Amino acid sequence: MVEAGRIDHGHHAGNAYRALTDTIELSKAVRTALKNVDLEETLIIVTADHSHTFNMAGYPQRGNPILGVVKVPDSAGNFVGHISKDAQGKSYTTLSYANGPGYVNGDLRPDLTHVDTINPDYRQAAIVPLKSETHSGEDVAIYAIGAGSQTVHGTLEQNVIYHIMKYALEF
Ligand SMILES: [Zn+2]
Repeated sequence: MVEAGRIDHGHHAGNAYRALTDTIELSKAVRTALKNVDLEETLIIVTADHSHTFNMAGYPQRGNPILGVVKVPDSAGNFVGHISKDAQGKSYTTLSYANGPGYVNGDLRPDLTHVDTINPDYRQAAIVPLKSETHSGEDVAIYAIGAGSQTVHGTLEQNVIYHIMKYALEF
């Protein structure tokens, strides 16, 4: 088993840059595993044991930097880079957290138009102040390829994963 545990640490720090870049590293690790196993006799499962309070929202235009402030197209759908503003007239990022160290008091929340939100140390805004952002409870994805992977489909209870792996071992 390989755990890409630093994705979790990035989220706990309220830092999307590190969570996302470590997700890319997980993708590279899976690619390496795929090159080094025989899928006729190996089952590879990629999943998570929980989610985080991480959100992607605000209708940014296609191509908007994922770590950037939300820029929206004009009413005709043209990509004009118009910065979207909240009810207080301030810009905001596509990514945010429901809780964590990125909390800023609502009325004191800074306008982000000239803030370097793409900087690796930037912490995305959070609604509830906590020293460490928390896990959350929605469903997580599960992907599988190789021997026995046909048993991974639809919505599964987490305990079923054990039986899927046991089944694969019996091939
Ligand atoms: Zn954690």
